Amino acid sequence: MIEIQALTKYYGARRVVGPISISIAKGEIVGLLGLNGAGKTTTLRILACDLLPSSGSVRVDGLDVVDNPDEVRARVGYLPDAPPLYDEMTVGEYLVFAARLRGLGQEDAEARVEEVLVSTQLDRVRDDVISTLSHGFRQRVGIAQAVVHRPRLLVLDEPISGLDPVQIVEMRELVRNLRHHHTTIISSHILSEISETCDRILVIRDGEIVAAGTEAELSSRLVEGAEVVVTVRGDAGQAKRLLASVKGVTAVEPVDATEPGADISSFRVEAERDVRQELCRALVLGDVALLGIAKNDRELESIFLRLAQPESKNGAEVQA
Ligand code: ADP
Repeated sequence: MIEIQALTKYYGARRVVGPISISIAKGEIVGLLGLNGAGKTTTLRILACDLLPSSGSVRVDGLDVVDNPDEVRARVGYLPDAPPLYDEMTVGEYLVFAARLRGLGQEDAEARVEEVLVSTQLDRVRDDVISTLSHGFRQRVGIAQAVVHRPRLLVLDEPISGLDPVQIVEMRELVRNLRHHHTTIISSHILSEISETCDRILVIRDGEIVAAGTEAELSSRLVEGAEVVVTVRGDAGQAKRLLASVKGVTAVEPVDATEPGADISSFRVEAERDVRQELCRALVLGDVALLGIAKNDRELESIFLRLAQPESKNGAEVQA
């Protein structure tokens, strides 16, 4: 659906995007994840034919964005970071207007707007003036105008930014429901906001894709070794010694107990591999009561930050 080959974008002598080469399959929902200034908006604008690349090729549905911009635009629905809304129009009027702009005839536009009002759950505000809408509804209208001409590719620039937690859940559902009709690329600077929505995440740093995969793949590549939290009842000193004696364990540190109660303590255990079985055996043989043992999931955001930060601050390097 999208084929990007050696894409670059320069502003003056400064390269802000690329070189990027990546393919996106039909029906995929892909997240473009990066800190502010990483090059997300520039990349999306090139895909939406809103900006020309400096070099390389970008093909949407087999059509080149430089050679066939009009055909590409007809296939792309774009929600920019600031949605192009007309505040004085009602939602319904604006969507018909947006559909007409994209070449639909009046009747077709009106019929299509009826469908879109339902699929984006805007039906009950169809007669509201856009300036009176909440931020969440404005974003919905932004998505509705992007899908009104039935584009094959949907490009959403930070659609979740500024939404509250309830609106984020609604937006996720909306994007997932639209997947049957569109290939979607969606940008964000917050991993947890898009990790559930997207099939694949591309991490962009200084204009280049530095990692690609599902959230689980990204985290397993970055988290070396294994970390567990062990909770015991009894002699904390004895427990710590037993845990540290297991082969492969590199660190044992007391942490806040995972449950209340006298004589209960918890430890964070770092190891070169998954040593949960050996830890259990050591505690049982040492006569310490084992109450719980759980994998310690690293904070998603910290994984992302390690990937996304400029190399000078970043110990880990992961290939896309
Ligand atoms: P993001 O969307 O990830 O925040 P952008 O694509 O907006 O990043 O910007 C990438 C880099 O390109 C930034 O350093 C930004 O300052 C620069 N940039 C964006 N637009 C222009 C422009 N029109 N002229 C010069 N530099 C620009």
